[in-house]
Amino acid sequence: VVGEDGAVDFKGKARFSQHLAVSDFTKSKTISQQRQNLPIFSVRDELLQVVSENQVVVIIGETGSGKTTQLTQYLYEYGYTVNGIIGCTQPRRVAAMSVAKRVSEEMETELGDKVGYAIRFEDATGPSTVIKYMTDGVLLRETLKDPDLEKYSIILMDEAHERSLDTDVLFGILKKVVARRRDFKLIVTSATLNGEKFSNFFGGVPIFHIPGRTFRVQICYSKTPCEDYVEAAVKQAMTIHIAGAPGDILIFLTGQDEIEATCYALSERMEQLISSTKQPVPKLLILPIYSQLPADLQAKIFQNAEDGARKCIVATNIAETSLTIDGIFYVIDTGYVKMKVYNPRMGMDALQVFPISRASADQRAGRAGRTGPGTCYRLYTENAYENEMLQSPVPEIQQTNLGNVVLLLKSLKIQNLLDFDFMDPPPQDNILNSMYQLWLLGALNDVGDLMDLGRKMVKFPLDPALAKLLLMGEKLECLNEVLTIVSMLSVPSVFFRPKDREAESDAAREKFFVPESDHLTLLNVYQQWKANEYRGDWCNDHFLQVKGLYKAREIRSQLLDILKTLKIPLTYCGSDWDVVRKTICSAYFHNAAMLKGIGEYVNCRNRMPCNLHPTSALYGLGYTPDYVVYHEAILTTKEYMQCVTAVEPHWLAELGPMFFSMGANVDVHTERGIEERHGIDDKVDVLKSILKISVSSSIL
Ligand code: ADP
Ligand code: MG
Repeated sequence: VVGEDGAVDFKGKARFSQHLAVSDFTKSKTISQQRQNLPIFSVRDELLQVVSENQVVVIIGETGSGKTTQLTQYLYEYGYTVNGIIGCTQPRRVAAMSVAKRVSEEMETELGDKVGYAIRFEDATGPSTVIKYMTDGVLLRETLKDPDLEKYSIILMDEAHERSLDTDVLFGILKKVVARRRDFKLIVTSATLNGEKFSNFFGGVPIFHIPGRTFRVQICYSKTPCEDYVEAAVKQAMTIHIAGAPGDILIFLTGQDEIEATCYALSERMEQLISSTKQPVPKLLILPIYSQLPADLQAKIFQNAEDGARKCIVATNIAETSLTIDGIFYVIDTGYVKMKVYNPRMGMDALQVFPISRASADQRAGRAGRTGPGTCYRLYTENAYENEMLQSPVPEIQQTNLGNVVLLLKSLKIQNLLDFDFMDPPPQDNILNSMYQLWLLGALNDVGDLMDLGRKMVKFPLDPALAKLLLMGEKLECLNEVLTIVSMLSVPSVFFRPKDREAESDAAREKFFVPESDHLTLLNVYQQWKANEYRGDWCNDHFLQVKGLYKAREIRSQLLDILKTLKIPLTYCGSDWDVVRKTICSAYFHNAAMLKGIGEYVNCRNRMPCNLHPTSALYGLGYTPDYVVYHEAILTTKEYMQCVTAVEPHWLAELGPMFFSMGANVDVHTERGIEERHGIDDKVDVLKSILKISVSSSIL
């Protein structure tokens, strides 16, 4: 145990000097020099001192000062792994993987050996792992099995300023661990100056500042609001590149589609430039980075460009603070970010693009001033910055669906969620709505306690509805098929649609279509892949993402392991896929929609319009069922249903009796086939009974 105990401290120090001796001998100069050049190195000893004297410490330091990669190593060198391991949480999967890889290189060990990482469905740690990077979600789930986190001697909650949902819940849980375990230490790190808030939450713990070392960044605003920020970003990047002054470029966009469009436009402009001039054109290395990008491509952003070439990194806000890329002199900030927000009125999550906050804008600009004086081009007006942007981002917990959190806290036997120690409590309406949804799914009973189904659901690292889908597969005897569908829904789309071969790839996709269901289409893809011995070349021939399918197979086998531990046997339905559709209906009846016009549906519960996506198997095939359920709704140019399955109206009445009953004139071909049963008053009644408190109807 490392605490105020002198003997242990001594042991730690002995370890440290031994380690230095070895590393001096073996490590390449460059890496150890790089480490010593980081701002955090100059305060290494003071930092270790503060940590050894306090159980909880808040550490503030600019992005790139070395918090994520160095702190864990310092703690290791000091001896904190004698009686437990060091855990470091990250809100983003990409960061957890990339940082673990970097630190394993710095420590000259194989990734997964002394240094490892764990993200959902992927555990790259081993018996000798002493530094474990993981997503905050992974640590949160570990508290289910081990509420005191006995295996850790110290946890670093990194990137706390991001205020991700899971980090915010961890704050409350780790506060209890700190109180229960005197031998446990907690470090909270943040890249922004909101340390007071974290410190106060733990009762006024010390705040340590890592001295910054940044250069001036000149800010250039757009004179008028920009209509097409992708185009504007491409133009600005080309202008910088042609002007010729050295330095890499970092562009902030909101998501994969925009990033791919931007990369494509940039490479086209470069080709045009090269073919239109006789002069040599300097190279531009265009590098995308977003969370769903395969890991080997992600790693490329850190590689040095060859001589004379310029890097242009096109990123989501993952590059805002989670990843630091050296050599950036120019930042192009579109001013937007994509977030999944829960809309209580619509009762659903939606991915939406929002303007960033001033704090985010300043962070983004700061990326240009790490290596020397830089420039940030803001593709929005100064007026927008001053008057339209929020001061700081809204914590995720304030605006997202809390279904998973409620389920988790309930399993941790936290009875009254309204009393849980949240740093910023979520709006009561959000908690209540999430409880209501869990009640609908049958995870909670009428008084808000976990039901048997809920207790089983929490064993799966899945959203509540997906977990229910699996468990209903057991009940309706098609678990094997449903397991495949759930796994396929847990990876990004496996359909590959290259820019210049759209028609060809669309035709290939259509060959897999099961006309009444996108879910069954996914099942069909997987089963055909399996019939072709899981071959990679077969995927390429059919415009399918090999990596995505491998990942789905991996997830499938992990979920199967969990099913085995719960002693749930696999059942097969063979070619009777109607029962699979029925099972999907049983877990997604809350996302039911009915036909209104050609390709146009409205949500059965709130009459909000929701459209078939053009990539859906049900789109434009002349078959439009009266009732469908969908996996999720996304809001882009309009409200789209993602992954849709046709259902029979009497299934809705049978499986979602709290919403639907068969109408007087049962005619499956008209909207009158089923009726909605419950109105607003019923929902309030349910909530009152779940919570035994009075609830206003404003939550609707
Ligand atoms: P902080 O957490 O304070 O933002 P980091 O510890 O992430 O800082 O980064 C410190 C340094 O390590 C940066 O200069 C960064 O460029 C470098 N670095 C981090 N990850 C990698 C990587 N995967 N490859 C190369 N360099 C990296
Ligand atoms: Mg960091």
